[in-house]
Amino acid sequence: MNPEFTYQRDRMVRLVEARGVRDARVLEAMRAIPRHQFVPEHMRAQAYSDHALPIGSNQTISQPYVVARMTELLKVEAGHSVLEVGTGSGYQTAILSKLSKRVFSLERISDLAHQAIDRMRQLGLENVKIQTFDGTVGWSDMAPFDRILVTAGAPKAPQPLIEQLRVGGLLLIPEGGRQEQRLVVYRKLRHGVRRSVGEPVMFVPLVGRHGWEKEQ
Ligand code: SAH
Repeated sequence: MNPEFTYQRDRMVRLVEARGVRDARVLEAMRAIPRHQFVPEHMRAQAYSDHALPIGSNQTISQPYVVARMTELLKVEAGHSVLEVGTGSGYQTAILSKLSKRVFSLERISDLAHQAIDRMRQLGLENVKIQTFDGTVGWSDMAPFDRILVTAGAPKAPQPLIEQLRVGGLLLIPEGGRQEQRLVVYRKLRHGVRRSVGEPVMFVPLVGRHGWEKEQ
């Protein structure tokens, strides 16, 4: 493993832990993934501070605490098949890949998807498949999923994603307005879903058929 930034990474994980994330598997995955490789080269020095950073194409890599918190809420297990919508840099994707059996990730901007694919290859993360298309329609060929994580803000959970969730499975999505959302967890039941609303967050918009119509 690359010894670069090990000290900064440990400090980032301790910070996240101090903010209340206690899941040991999540913290371990964050200790293992070199976050500086997911940000633009000139921003590497800031990669381990607890805030979001621009990654080009008008998008951002999420803040470490939010990545940790979302991953913890998702309760990912080693045997799970996970769908992620909004690959972005691929940082969250890499964390999920450490915790699950398979990760399928969708990104609408092909430049970002291609960069993320390169990063997975560099890190030897072989259980990840990334494609460019509108993730609000899901990925029906690979369904059902045990877990679905949406990492962009939506007015409400896209119906196709709920349909592609296994019974007993969880979907986590930031729901709300364009500026601010809340983390919402859906558990799929045999009939319908159970919805629980959590903390406020700020994500870039989920743009697509079952999301926002436009970026702004
Ligand atoms: N987890 C990512 C966060 C990326 S920001 C990271 O840590 O890097 C959210 C991403 O969602 C952006 O890259 C944006 O292009 C993407 N996105 C927005 N709408 C989408 C859609 N309908 N389908 C797939 N990706 C989408």
